Amino acid sequence: MRSRTTTMALAGVVAALVLASESFAQTAEGYSISHISGDVYRAMNNNHGTVFLVTTEGIILPDPINTDFATWLKSEFDDRFGVPVRYVIYSHYHWDHASGGDVFADTARFVGHINMLSHLAMPQASTTLSQVIGQYEPVAAMDSNSNGVIEHSEIGEDFRRFPGSEVSQFAGFDANKDGVLSGAEVKRGPVSFVRPPDITYSDEMQISLGGKRVKLTWVGKMNHSSDSSMITFPDDSVMFVVDYVTFGRLPNREMDYELGMFDEWMAAIVETERLAAGFDFVATGHGPVGTRDDVRAWREYFEKLRDQVAAGIAAGQSLTEMQRDIDMEEYSHWADFDWVDLNVLGMYHFLTD
Ligand SMILES: [Zn+2]
Repeated sequence: MRSRTTTMALAGVVAALVLASESFAQTAEGYSISHISGDVYRAMNNNHGTVFLVTTEGIILPDPINTDFATWLKSEFDDRFGVPVRYVIYSHYHWDHASGGDVFADTARFVGHINMLSHLAMPQASTTLSQVIGQYEPVAAMDSNSNGVIEHSEIGEDFRRFPGSEVSQFAGFDANKDGVLSGAEVKRGPVSFVRPPDITYSDEMQISLGGKRVKLTWVGKMNHSSDSSMITFPDDSVMFVVDYVTFGRLPNREMDYELGMFDEWMAAIVETERLAAGFDFVATGHGPVGTRDDVRAWREYFEKLRDQVAAGIAAGQSLTEMQRDIDMEEYSHWADFDWVDLNVLGMYHFLTD
């Protein structure tokens, strides 16, 4: 006869295996949920990540990412927790993090920084494609028949899709659903599926639900956006920050240099590193969950890049010479390391424009 202790030990092993397989199971679309700490979980859609807090009175969900992923999350929430989403909290307005909130509109309020509203506002109808600068300039440049709007036929087969979804970015741009993209729609960005916040704040805000707190802190205007919120869960020691801080991956291409505000960006990173001392876990919008040490590594990357570009400028080097000589090799294990030349270009503009 098997002893009671052995049976209990075996049951424990089986439970642990089931939990582990649940945590790391990934759907065919690249969706997964894993546990971080206390009542806070990680949800991933391929390389896009969010977190969520589960309480007896409902769920607080930061970025819904997009409609397909949010629809999957909603059914997982029903199966696993049986409570509805009460708050959707936006890290910032960008299409690839903030889309899909409509899925939760029957039960949730939507919370974001006040500047999110101006980011989502449609630019003047008279805006032309040639007035689009920055990250959507390549989209505006697709007007091959020069009729002033972008048609489906002009965007090509490989036009970007929403992460983990078959929906094309074209649909995100086409706010009025007329099948063509005007200058104003391209300038605004592919944000048609971003449900605007109905609760906004300016500096700080705290929400309580089911005895747990979530805190939003504005990190200031910077190149990446003017509406970025640091979202923290003090009762479970989790911080969530998106895009202005990322771990194990190079900063995005040219780092939105056309908007300037590098000093503001660094100030936000430094403040995040300072506050991260109060949290055991720091999750970002991409990749694995880390700690304050990863925020420090991110800050150091910028300092090393900035110092070398500044030295190159002082020595009278050309941009091409700097791209050849600047050594960031110690970060070669980070993802997208081939963006280092674009990062040098972005930093060169930050320091000279
Ligand atoms: Zn972003």
